[in-house]
Amino acid sequence: MLEINNLHVKLQDEDKAILKGLSLSVEAGSVHAIMGPNGSGKSTLSYVLAGRDGYEVTDGTATLDGESLLDMEPEERAAHGLFLAFQYPVEIPGVGNMTFLRTAVNAQRKARGEPELSSGEFLKVIRAKAKDLKIDAEMLKRPVNVGFSGGEKKRNEILQMAMLEPRMCILDETDSGLDVDAMKLVAEGVNALRSEGRAFLVITHYQRLLDHIKPDVVHIMANGRIIKTGGPELALEVEENGYADILAEVQA
Ligand code: ADP
Ligand code: MG
Ligand code: MG
Repeated sequence: MLEINNLHVKLQDEDKAILKGLSLSVEAGSVHAIMGPNGSGKSTLSYVLAGRDGYEVTDGTATLDGESLLDMEPEERAAHGLFLAFQYPVEIPGVGNMTFLRTAVNAQRKARGEPELSSGEFLKVIRAKAKDLKIDAEMLKRPVNVGFSGGEKKRNEILQMAMLEPRMCILDETDSGLDVDAMKLVAEGVNALRSEGRAFLVITHYQRLLDHIKPDVVHIMANGRIIKTGGPELALEVEENGYADILAEVQA
């Protein structure tokens, strides 16, 4: 579903290479995790896939179902089923959370050739999904993420994901800043969405999220590349020993 081949990315305004030949292949129906030390380029990878400004792709390809993502505008990528839950969710003052979601959901449906949801249908769906994530009705009325706690922002990202039903979901450190209970809610939200036609790329600094979202494949990223790929046991190895052993092994 997602194919990344030899991706090289630098900052647009500086001669600073961040991704240095990253390759990754995520099949439909699977959950891949990326772990890695701070500064290895994990967030940059997710930003580049989502189409954020400020980065320049100098080499390599990234395709979603065979179509080049890098040639698409951010909203086209979303229309193709790509979703990114940000490490630092943005606040949108003046735009109600519910209005925002309804606009996004209907734009998505339109792009897929499906009819818009009526306001009644929309309300029914969003209330049920918000309840699962313990997001109260009052939070749905407030401007997007404004004044939300760190945990509320992350749960709101998962609510967006649940409403949009994307096919390729990327979660960038959605667990950071969450207490154990909030992390479980997030994990349940993700697990409820797991399906044959959908894939997840879960970027995380810590292994504990992966106790709740069981990955099929774990990648270790360092210095702008995937340096090791394995099964869930790789995450446990990192938890035990940190990254030093793996980095040393690769350099040897
Ligand atoms: P990670 O998410 O793995 O912690 P990042 O992708 O956030 O890593 O960052 C990778 C490297 O690129 C870091 O050294 C970071 O400081 C640098 N970097 C990323 N974006 C920018 C930017 N906009 N300006 C300056 N440096 C950046
Ligand atoms: Mg970081
Ligand atoms: Mg990051």
